[in-house]
Amino acid sequence: MTSDDTRGDHRDEIRRQLAFYRDIGVKEVFRRKPKAASAVPVAMAAAAKAVASEEAIPLPSTPPPPAVPMIQTPASIREVALPPLAPVDDTLLKIQQDIGDCRRCRLCAQRSKIVFGSGNEQARLVFVGEGPGADEDAQGLPFVGRAGQLLTQMIEGTAVKEGIPIKRPDVYICNVVKCRPPENRTPQPDEMEICGQFLFRQLMAIRPKAICAMGSTAAKAILTTKDGVTRLRGQWHKWRDIPVMVTYHPSYLLRPYNQDAKREAWEDLKKVLHYVYD
Ligand code: URA
Repeated sequence: MTSDDTRGDHRDEIRRQLAFYRDIGVKEVFRRKPKAASAVPVAMAAAAKAVASEEAIPLPSTPPPPAVPMIQTPASIREVALPPLAPVDDTLLKIQQDIGDCRRCRLCAQRSKIVFGSGNEQARLVFVGEGPGADEDAQGLPFVGRAGQLLTQMIEGTAVKEGIPIKRPDVYICNVVKCRPPENRTPQPDEMEICGQFLFRQLMAIRPKAICAMGSTAAKAILTTKDGVTRLRGQWHKWRDIPVMVTYHPSYLLRPYNQDAKREAWEDLKKVLHYVYD
């Protein structure tokens, strides 16, 4: 193969990626500045490891309520009458007050801001990520960096394309851990266990019609499974009685050369939006 062939393949790949982003409504793409090249790969490699890892993470010693493996189709799930789950007096405000200026785990040492979550408190759909990155840590809001921009564009682009009238503020977005892990490393089991209690209270208080777990950390925390995203994605699972769709983390989708994952994430999102809003 000549270097011209390699360049041609590379250009085809870029074209395919741009077409994918155009399809999901992305209007801008970013090119990393060469100057930042030495700093970014370390963080990106850590983030990529965090989001794409298929390794088994030891489960928390006191696991959250057991997840029931997927046994129903969306149509049959729809017929189930859902009993209330959240304690009547629990609210997002109360949960946030209980978190307070949290010092329960080592992640407090290097955080700037606790990232509780944002969006519609009565959302029918909740997206759960892994943990704040640098931008989120600085602003105190989830998914506001590059991965967040992609998530917004995916939600809004897919909604427009599918004729579903929702925008990002209509859903709720939060993370498994509320403080940024140093160097964007994967949260450790004890950190997930400590912060997981607040995630589960958030989910119970909001009581959405469906949950979308993005990446392996969210999938592991919510479904108490050791399976990776590739195996879990695309099918309905359950947390308590709430349907859960697992899909790829947006940070993973920002990496080049994973066209299949991008297409699959789009399919997953379409499935979720139609189930929740049709
Ligand atoms: N990645 C996450 O998992 N969560 C955020 O809030 C941002 C990036």
